[in-house]
Amino acid sequence: MPKVEEEKGFVEILNSRYKLRGLFHIIEANQPIYNKDTGKLAGVTNPRDVTYIHSYGGEAIFFESLSKGKLMASRCDNEKCESKGSIYEPFRIFCPDCLRKNTIVDITEKAQKTAKIHSFIITHRSGAFNILPKPIKFINVEFDEEVVTILMSVLVVGEPEIGKRIIPIFRIKSPTYTIMDLMFVVKGTTESELPEKFSF
Ligand SMILES: [Zn+2]
Repeated sequence: MPKVEEEKGFVEILNSRYKLRGLFHIIEANQPIYNKDTGKLAGVTNPRDVTYIHSYGGEAIFFESLSKGKLMASRCDNEKCESKGSIYEPFRIFCPDCLRKNTIVDITEKAQKTAKIHSFIITHRSGAFNILPKPIKFINVEFDEEVVTILMSVLVVGEPEIGKRIIPIFRIKSPTYTIMDLMFVVKGTTESELPEKFSF
């Protein structure tokens, strides 16, 4: 059941400290589990509602940028590193080869011009809490040769095909600040075909 405002948990950072307001643990009445065959008690349900506080740390810029229609990646600029110039998407705070902090780079235009489907999986049955439209077309996204990694995402308009050109779309209107704010559509999709709250 959707929670009312007083049942939600809110977090702010003030003077470098987390400040919590509201409810983060809600206990609800449990229910007995009866065995209808024997008429005997077999157990109880244990409803719990917990709000988890997920700190993004150095990856916060990635999620904040999605809400502004920008796809950020990171690049190793260490002269002494064999991987110098490699761009990482998904965003990596540190270079996995030299462990130095990467430079944050905007690859929105690169994604618009070069993103294509490397491979895909179509999922007809999802797990709990799924909010993606089914069947879910999971795609592995490949960019140009500067980007040395593959990004996992979802295709929401069009049919997946290996090598097909795709375009990123962003949930700029009421963003969730999660990876759900980034999805892809096949090249040639028009603005009117995009899911609600998404734009190019
Ligand atoms: Zn490096």
